[in-house]
Amino acid sequence: MPIEKENNCTWQPGTSLNDPHHHEQSLPEPPILDTILDHIGNTPMVRVNKIAKSEGIKCELLAKCEYFNAGGSVKDRIGRRMVEEAEKAGTITPGVSTIIEPTSGNTGIGLALAAAVKGYRAIITLPEKMSQEKVDVLKALGAEIIRTPTEAAWDAPESHIGVARRLQKEIPNSVILNQYDNPYNPIAHYDTTAEEILGQCGGKVDMFVAGAGTGGTITGVAKKLKEKCPNVIIIGVDPHGSILAEPATLNTTNETYKVEGIGYDFIPKALDRRLVDGWIKSSDKESFLMARRLIREEGILCGGSSGTAMWAAIQAIKQHGLGEGKRVVVLLPDSVRNYMTKFLNDDWMRSNGFTDEKFEKETPERKD
Ligand code: PMP
Repeated sequence: MPIEKENNCTWQPGTSLNDPHHHEQSLPEPPILDTILDHIGNTPMVRVNKIAKSEGIKCELLAKCEYFNAGGSVKDRIGRRMVEEAEKAGTITPGVSTIIEPTSGNTGIGLALAAAVKGYRAIITLPEKMSQEKVDVLKALGAEIIRTPTEAAWDAPESHIGVARRLQKEIPNSVILNQYDNPYNPIAHYDTTAEEILGQCGGKVDMFVAGAGTGGTITGVAKKLKEKCPNVIIIGVDPHGSILAEPATLNTTNETYKVEGIGYDFIPKALDRRLVDGWIKSSDKESFLMARRLIREEGILCGGSSGTAMWAAIQAIKQHGLGEGKRVVVLLPDSVRNYMTKFLNDDWMRSNGFTDEKFEKETPERKD
């Protein structure tokens, strides 16, 4: 006997003639992907509306949202590219080679993603400062993780770079793809990130703003943009406590900072500072408050260094007097999912002194 099922559903499909509800045309379907590594790149460009308006900005303010990449950050692009190029050069073989990389986490995730799909052992060395969320994702991807002291100088044996170098000598068939001076770091952005920006903007970009860690993103994008839009202004963002900004007189302190993924105590070879027209120094408070505004006002679920880049973009637009008809692109490197226990947490924001009046007004302390 067929079982009679009760029907409580409020909507029943009908014919287009008698169905009283509105329907929409579905978008053209993207093709089936061979592996998740094919879902890296082609990230959305999104208009930043309310923040621009409340800051009195008249030019077009656009956010390149890199958190839509498969591993959740801009660094997936170089993770895949550095592995593919090493395979082409015959330096690594699946099932045989071990990939070791010192990283602030996101390159590690990009590499571990490629390693998981392709069958490599991955060992990631990362400073203690980097979030537990990144560590847990790396572990889930099968990577082995070694934490190193945040305060170690880059060339100290106990730093993430020093430990990676020692392991590479000890472990047979191991390589460091070395994002700091691998040419395929900036080339990945020259070939893809910059091309996408140009395509999405119809070839017209007046200013590009990005933070720098290895500098691969800003270098690769700036090189292509300057070839195609010679008048484009490239703005680099560097936290107080880092030494990447020029002139060197901007780098006045050696404080530690909490924003992850940007700033260094040495100049990586992947960063070509000749391509950067101006640098802006940033602070943690400005960065995290702006990241929270991007989430709260625009629904853009970005990470802390995205807040840094957007805050700096607003300063640069005002400094350069960019008005109507001008177009500014800001690169947002990763997702708030990397920072659920950090700046997404209201108590963390308060206990670090990162809140302001607007934050407190919009984020009442909840007792539930
Ligand atoms: N933001 C975050 C969160 C990052 O992980 C990185 C990579 N270190 C960057 C910004 C800077 O990117 P790049 O290394 O290409 O300069």
